[in-house]
Amino acid sequence: MEIQLPRGTRDILPNEIETWHFLENKFRSICETYRYSEIRTPIFEHTELFERGVGDSTDIVTKEMYTFQDKKGRSLTLRPEGTAPVVRSFVEHKMFGDVKQPVKLYYNGPMFRYERPQGGRQRQFTQMGIEAIGSDDPSIDAEVISLAMNFFRSIGLENISLIINSLGDKESRLKHREALIAHFEPQIDEFCSDCQARLYKNPLRILDCKTDHEHPLVKSAPSILDFLNEESKEYFAKVKGFLDVIGISYTVDPTLVRGLDYYNHTTFEIMSDEEGFGAKTTLCGGGRYHGLVQEFDGPDTPGIGFGMGVERVLLALEKAQVKIPAAKGLSCYVISAQEEADEKVVQLVNMLRDHGISAEKDYQKRKLKAQLKDADRKQAKYTVIIGEDEIRTGEYSLKNMATGEQFLVTETELITTLEEQAEGDE
Ligand code: ATP
Ligand code: MG
Repeated sequence: MEIQLPRGTRDILPNEIETWHFLENKFRSICETYRYSEIRTPIFEHTELFERGVGDSTDIVTKEMYTFQDKKGRSLTLRPEGTAPVVRSFVEHKMFGDVKQPVKLYYNGPMFRYERPQGGRQRQFTQMGIEAIGSDDPSIDAEVISLAMNFFRSIGLENISLIINSLGDKESRLKHREALIAHFEPQIDEFCSDCQARLYKNPLRILDCKTDHEHPLVKSAPSILDFLNEESKEYFAKVKGFLDVIGISYTVDPTLVRGLDYYNHTTFEIMSDEEGFGAKTTLCGGGRYHGLVQEFDGPDTPGIGFGMGVERVLLALEKAQVKIPAAKGLSCYVISAQEEADEKVVQLVNMLRDHGISAEKDYQKRKLKAQLKDADRKQAKYTVIIGEDEIRTGEYSLKNMATGEQFLVTETELITTLEEQAEGDE
């Protein structure tokens, strides 16, 4: 049997990796600008972390987790999302005691969900995300959103829209919850079995159901915005005000919900508006949560963050035909004109690399002409041919492959020329 990739996974091949590096570098540099520090948590965690942290009425926990027992019979789960592990780590390392509050963290790594694979939906996918834990200042909400928006702008993705909503505080949500139950109860048998189970457990999730989202009752459901108390209204107004002053436009959509009990106040999604990329596709989802730190036995602490699907960002870039700046290419290909030059070629290539100059040679015993062709294929900016004459005189002929110009250079001049050229590229 030919062994192939597991369903829902992908190889990221060398010809795609430049784009990945580009996104990763941009994300890292933006996070640093906003003063978020990287955190790396394990790929697997105790299953209970996600049951408690993501919520046992969510699709993730009920259907999508990769859960297994280890050899001692412990139940472990490949992480389906980044927030619960980061908050666990925050509590475990007592970051709440740090004098620098809020604690601002970012992550980038693989997540695992057992879903039906399709465009932009995989079983192993990658999320880049941030969490700001320890402040309930509405300016942090605007900051988190602006970090995501700036990231999209910096990678050249213009065609996106930001949707925001407020779920209010606990009091507002409880009132809304009662209204939702009263709204759906009489006709709940018209809904899918998941929604029936959600009615008393977490009716907000009915609004987020993928099966029933066209049901007229979903569309006519009571809006959370009508249930916000004064404090929650004021909070939301401040978040919007801060977004306005930093020039970020948004649409308020009262149906945008996150089903978790912990979510409160601001929720948001950033969608790609590219045509032919689903109807509208969510690249990034986030929001404010309260109670998660406490759920993991830490002190009462508010948090906010987002998770961004990197594969979806790549699809959006492709649809938008955004050109990724090319990585630095091959600087110099050292060609051996005869066997006697082989040692000199090895030495020279090694010396160039020691100077941080990217260098290549032939490893397939190619003839001179074929080596030139190989240098061309590898898009070497320069070639240098080494034969007995060059070894004897200590002067090499350096050829600029773009212009065809050739110069006679010593070893020292070879290095300085290539170094100058590399600097010019930066
Ligand atoms: P969806 O409604 O598309 O299932 P979600 O609400 O489950 O998304 P979140 O848990 O908020 O998604 O994750 C944040 C982001 O991670 C999503 O907006 C998306 O870009 C990405 N994402 C989520 N699940 C997958 C997946 N299976 N494959 C690829 N990307 C994903
Ligand atoms: Mg999902």
